[in-house]
Amino acid sequence: MYFQGASGNCPEIQIEEIMLIRYSCKGMGLTCPFIVDGESVEEVTKKALAHVIETHANDFNIIKSPEEILRMEKALARSTRVVPG
Ligand SMILES: [Zn+2]
Repeated sequence: MYFQGASGNCPEIQIEEIMLIRYSCKGMGLTCPFIVDGESVEEVTKKALAHVIETHANDFNIIKSPEEILRMEKALARSTRVVPG
């Protein structure tokens, strides 16, 4: 991340480390090695949701109605965590 036109007063902040958002099925209590990293919660949640619907539909009963999908999406977003890239 580069900030252009920063005032000279700006100390060198240590944000050079890239942080990633990570979702893992283990974080959801599943015995599944699936892990997905991304730059935003939205991106990771989307991928996690696709995986969960494809692979874990049976673990979570049915995930078909828009409400159920939305609920699952929120649960997945909550289970993401920030990790060093
Ligand atoms: Zn999984």
